[in-house]
Amino acid sequence: MDTQQIQQIADRISLNLKAKGVSPDRQSISEKLSLYINEFGVVPFEAERKVLSDQYKQYKIPEEVKPAANQAGDVVNIADIQPNDWVTVEAKVVSLQEPNSPAISQSGILADSSGAVRFVIFSKASELPKLELEKWYSIDSAVVDSFKGVPNLKLHSGSHVTGIEDDRCLVPSEPTKLSDLKPGVVSCVRVKFVDEWESRSERMMQSGLVADESGRMKFVLWQDSQKEKLIPGAVYNIFYAGVDEYNGKLSLTLNSAVWLQDEDIDISVPVKSGVSAPKEPLPISMIRDLKVGYASLRVKFVEEWEARSDRMMQSGLVGDETGRIKFVLWQDESKERLELGRVYEIINAKVDEYNGRLSISLNPSTYSADDSEADIAVGTRLDEVSGTIVQVSKGSGLVRRCPVEGCNRVLSRQNFCPVHEIQNNFNYDLRIKGVVDDGHRACNVLMNREVTEKLSDMTMDQAIEIASNSPLGLEEIQAELTERLCGRYVKCLGNEFDGRILVKSAEFIHLDTKITADLLNRAGNVLEGDRT
Ligand SMILES: [Zn+2]
Repeated sequence: MDTQQIQQIADRISLNLKAKGVSPDRQSISEKLSLYINEFGVVPFEAERKVLSDQYKQYKIPEEVKPAANQAGDVVNIADIQPNDWVTVEAKVVSLQEPNSPAISQSGILADSSGAVRFVIFSKASELPKLELEKWYSIDSAVVDSFKGVPNLKLHSGSHVTGIEDDRCLVPSEPTKLSDLKPGVVSCVRVKFVDEWESRSERMMQSGLVADESGRMKFVLWQDSQKEKLIPGAVYNIFYAGVDEYNGKLSLTLNSAVWLQDEDIDISVPVKSGVSAPKEPLPISMIRDLKVGYASLRVKFVEEWEARSDRMMQSGLVGDETGRIKFVLWQDESKERLELGRVYEIINAKVDEYNGRLSISLNPSTYSADDSEADIAVGTRLDEVSGTIVQVSKGSGLVRRCPVEGCNRVLSRQNFCPVHEIQNNFNYDLRIKGVVDDGHRACNVLMNREVTEKLSDMTMDQAIEIASNSPLGLEEIQAELTERLCGRYVKCLGNEFDGRILVKSAEFIHLDTKITADLLNRAGNVLEGDRT
């Protein structure tokens, strides 16, 4: 066990002791834990209990009295278990999952009539029997651990497991409202499948939104040959779904769950707050101005994509003068496929967002093709700035980037990455952080290696050579770029991001020198410094 994990246990013990009014010797606690766990192979829970108990004796603190139920081995309701308890439960195995670590021999979900909990059996506890799906067991001396505040049950070598032979029936609890869910396992929810999303990964079998009267929630079903997809629009009772939290948002994972379609009832689902389907046709918007909600568009169907799901009728890109956007049309007998290259008027399409990118769904909309001569010059939605390069800022030129996969941060002069410390096997990059003034406003631009090489007529290899032969080193390149580019008039195309145009392409434009001089005079003393 590594130092960090030992420190975590030591922290827990110290907190416990501090709550009793003593100042524990953390160093000695860590050493004892390390001795028990690493030298003697004691399982961490037992080591923790032993150290805590020794500390109590040392400071003459009366041993905590566990609830009588636990002492006597009385059965505890799953809904009542608390982190750090040692418990006896009688529960049914409602789900088993493939363990994701060789240290674990089995994991899954145990349920009784009060609730459900995830459990883990460690490989070290080889004397414990393999649990079978759908069977009941009495489990004695399991430890309730918690991960991010969610209790889970650990079965270790000190636990006892006996099968329960009498016929028991697990009565699932009443459905829990989505708005009342907490991370962990939910015994039952009754929901309607309201929105199917396109799968974004091979591992994902299905995802989308389910909803009940209280709200909506994302769900995920990972690939599993034992499972069948849910049917959009249907109502389900879902038993023993995992409730996971990510960035403060809850979602349901269905791989542990079983579900039954409920054809007798429908659920009236609230419309997502703030966004309800418009009753009147909305006026035509431009793609550049779209926001999540509903919108009408006049667009050309410019690119068709292969459908990646049976449920999808068609998808691709539509565009207008201001840009392009992805669209999806889900299977629907009342809808017609779009014809590539034609212009459509789409009334009240739904605009969705995923990871910051917008897309439109045509299913709630009505659409019709313009006559076949209609055409739109579809824009690429690039921002343009044309003006004089008035500054090549600090941080321009040759930079060294962190080589750690996925990092790529610019290293300091000492090759120091703010995350990965010293990195001497850096990658070089060439760039310009600069300011272009169009006569009305100064615009920050960032030019990548390709654009920088083209404008400066200096390749990265040449820049490396210049820098290594100069006493100024890398700073020589910034000076060189300033020399070559400042005062030149350029047209840049790119995307604005965070107040800066990320330039995708740039070219010099020849301009009357007098205008350039005026611009430079005006801009000369305005611009100073670039913090980033
Ligand atoms: Zn790094």
